[in-house]
Amino acid sequence: MTRCDGREKEELRTIKMEVGVLNRADGSAYVEWGNNKIFAAVYGPKEVIPRFLARNDKAYLRCKYSMAPFSVEDRKRPGPDRRSIEIGKVTAGALAPAIILEDYPNSMIEVLVDVMQADAGTRCAGITAATLALVDAGIPMRGLVTACAAGKVDDQIVLDLCKEEDNSGQADVPVAILSRTEDITLLQMDGIMSEDEVDEALNLAVKGCKDVYEMQMEALKSKYGD
Ligand code: ADP
Repeated sequence: MTRCDGREKEELRTIKMEVGVLNRADGSAYVEWGNNKIFAAVYGPKEVIPRFLARNDKAYLRCKYSMAPFSVEDRKRPGPDRRSIEIGKVTAGALAPAIILEDYPNSMIEVLVDVMQADAGTRCAGITAATLALVDAGIPMRGLVTACAAGKVDDQIVLDLCKEEDNSGQADVPVAILSRTEDITLLQMDGIMSEDEVDEALNLAVKGCKDVYEMQMEALKSKYGD
């Protein structure tokens, strides 16, 4: 089977990553994942605003996902919508187990993911970029979080769907894993698959995550050395 962009079934799109790309944030990263172009910035640990969100046992992690109006084919209305609020929440859920939040009670760590150009898989690329920005900000981590999706297109399980495949495909399964423990910190599914296909897609997505992890390590090494 040939995919619409010529990739093999188990092949990722071309991915480029750079750490520390924004001078004004405490930590930042840029990820180009196929036609996705995403910046992540991290602020903190800092004062919690509003105060009532502060916790005395750990830091409060806030994640905001936004898409630029020019990031999609038809101009997107600026500002938050249900989808971006949901992706902000799942991004926080995917990242939280990796961050040693207990080190910073009564403070806040803020993660901003900004999508400049979208082509499906932005939550995975955003989580991958946010992890690099957290490391760049010097936030203590248990490991790196790496995300990648697999899905079903033309009755076949394939890795890392692009927009055209996402539109015509039967299912999409974004997954994030925490390196070291390999715990799954994000698992969503949209579409219909058999139990065996879900297993196959999950295994393929985890395999994709492991390849993306190597790229994250390379990006960190090229900024900070070995
Ligand atoms: P993900 O980007 O994580 O795959 P979705 O499955 O919700 O998340 O979205 C798939 C793709 O659909 C996005 O990457 C983007 O290319 C496109 N898309 C999402 N929201 C909009 C929107 N409001 N207008 C146009 N295209 C959108």
